[in-house]
Amino acid sequence: MAAYEYETHNYDVVVVGAGGAGLRATLGMAEQGLRTVCVTKVFPTRSHTVAAQGGIAASLGNMGPDNWQWHMYDTVKGSDWLGDIDTIEYVTREAPRAVYELEHYGVPFSRTEEGKIYQRPFGGHTTEFGEGPPVQRTCAAADRTGHAMLHTLYGQSLKQNAEFYVEYFALDLIMSEDGACTGIMAWKLDDGTLHRFNAKLVVLATGGSGRTYFSCTSAHTCTGDGGGMVARAGLPLQDQEFVQFHPTGVYGAGVLITEGVRGEGGYLTNSEGERFMERYAPTYKDLASRDVVSRCMTLEIREGRGVGPEKDHIYLNLNHLPREVIEERLPGIAESARIFAGVDVTKDPIPVIPTAHYNMGGIPTNYWGEVLNPTAEDQDAVVPGLMAVGEAACASLHGANRLGSNSLIDLVVLGRAASIRAGQIIDPKAAVPEGPKAEVEKILDRFDSIRHADGANPTAQVRLKMQKAMQKDAAVFRTAESLKEGCEAISTIWDEMRDIKVTDRSLIWNSDLMETLELHNLMVNAITTVYSAEARTESRGAHAREDFPERDDKNWRKHTISRVDESGKVSLSYRDVHTEPLTPAEQGGIDVSKIAPKKRVY
Ligand SMILES: Cc1cc2nc3c(=O)[nH]c(=O)nc-3n(C[C@H](O)[C@H](O)[C@H](O)COP(=O)(O)OP(=O)(O)OC[C@H]3O[C@@H](n4cnc5c(N)ncnc54)[C@H](O)[C@@H]3O)c2cc1C
Repeated sequence: MAAYEYETHNYDVVVVGAGGAGLRATLGMAEQGLRTVCVTKVFPTRSHTVAAQGGIAASLGNMGPDNWQWHMYDTVKGSDWLGDIDTIEYVTREAPRAVYELEHYGVPFSRTEEGKIYQRPFGGHTTEFGEGPPVQRTCAAADRTGHAMLHTLYGQSLKQNAEFYVEYFALDLIMSEDGACTGIMAWKLDDGTLHRFNAKLVVLATGGSGRTYFSCTSAHTCTGDGGGMVARAGLPLQDQEFVQFHPTGVYGAGVLITEGVRGEGGYLTNSEGERFMERYAPTYKDLASRDVVSRCMTLEIREGRGVGPEKDHIYLNLNHLPREVIEERLPGIAESARIFAGVDVTKDPIPVIPTAHYNMGGIPTNYWGEVLNPTAEDQDAVVPGLMAVGEAACASLHGANRLGSNSLIDLVVLGRAASIRAGQIIDPKAAVPEGPKAEVEKILDRFDSIRHADGANPTAQVRLKMQKAMQKDAAVFRTAESLKEGCEAISTIWDEMRDIKVTDRSLIWNSDLMETLELHNLMVNAITTVYSAEARTESRGAHAREDFPERDDKNWRKHTISRVDESGKVSLSYRDVHTEPLTPAEQGGIDVSKIAPKKRVY
């Protein structure tokens, strides 16, 4: 047994993660009068949310007619009918209120001439249940919306006396014998001390796992740690096969160029200078949904119409836009294009390529954020003491494909919902639970064995292999063959991970150890992604199978539930999609005939 001393802390709520979701939950929990602590591996305003450019969707109707039912329809269609209808209704209905709340908290939104919140068009957002022209629904603070949100939410959380433990790396969940979560163990990165947090509720807000891929838009910190912790606690992940490729990552660098560029009038061209999206999506063209645009770009490249010396990318043009539009609404983009592509956007197009961007899958939850552990008797069984919010979670707002600007709204609406629910289920006067000591020791033993790992494979080498395999075998288009190869490759890498080498044994600022812990978490995400994808023999949203090009609602309108054990064995089961709205049509809810499955064309 590893002999480590640790300090113990007791709280009502521990939130792990300080991105948009974690901060909104922290703020809400503190407002409910719950003793709340937020534990985060990076300083709050350095979380990946800071990089969100384009904006946050809500049917404010500031630029023309709009309503939440249209937003709901677009989200259902965007999800390719895999999203949970109750979650989609909850989020789209609450969205305007959440945006006004952000405004009142202090987010400096861009404005219209009359002083209202400015809204821009974004892919897949339409009017008249997909029959009308594109809508301007995405509220923006220039092209730095996430940055503005994080700074505002962090300030508000401090005002509510929420406490922050910054640069603490959460290792694992402490689970009780009867399957409830009772806290977490964490490692303080700057002094090497260990910490036990006991709590009535743990909220995982650890963000996505984009770093399973070689080329991705997400920060190096997006390593799916929440998914790793959940899997080690014997709990499942959901819909891991659905990984969004954003059409416009800068070629070679992976850095994102927001869809807001196309919203403001930018467009894509191939080597013949053709605006090829007009051919594939005659109505919404460059503003079709992301999965669609990414596939069209990939097809153009495959058919020999890519640009550049190797004909392996596409051009994004915005040099026809008035200089004021670029300066006022897309200043960050002009800067990114200059730094990462060496391009002056007022003169030349930006070289772009579809790049891994967002995880639709994650820890299964209901729309209150409560984590689900489906059993044969109850598909929606809740894990006591555990919630998940943000990109780490899968409340299935986005189903098989997320619409642009629907993640930021997900963070704030469902972060707030989680805190409302917490206010109902947590008794501030009750005693804080203390999980089994044996569990804590198990966590410390695992930590110690990774710290002293002295095998043959350096972490960086194993990670690169994983990223290359994911990029090659589980990207925009997939086949039985590529996925079989992907499963074999990732399973082999899983075994290699047992023979990993950590060179630095110290506990202070040991980035080698931290990256190894992160790699273990990434591998949980990677392996569940390839196995879930191999099993799903249809095309839906971001999961495009060349050998099964059609969506198959009869057999596959269901969520994949994946579990992985220590030996790397993945077991899959399925859970029904929630198909009932919350509000009946006669009480102002959506007309259900509008959201019945149909062919998805843009
Ligand atoms: C470049 C880019 C641009 C985007 N633009 C938009 C946009 O315009 N509109 C939109 O709707 N969406 C956008 N998205 C998606 C959206 O920004 C993300 O899905 C969202 O910000 C995720 O927020 P989060 O709070 O779940 O996680 P994050 O912001 O990633 O935060 C995760 C937090 O968890 C903490 N953490 C993780 N692991 C641990 C651990 N082991 N221990 C302790 N702490 C841990 C981190 O410190 C961090 O604070 C964009 C994404 C990217 C990558």
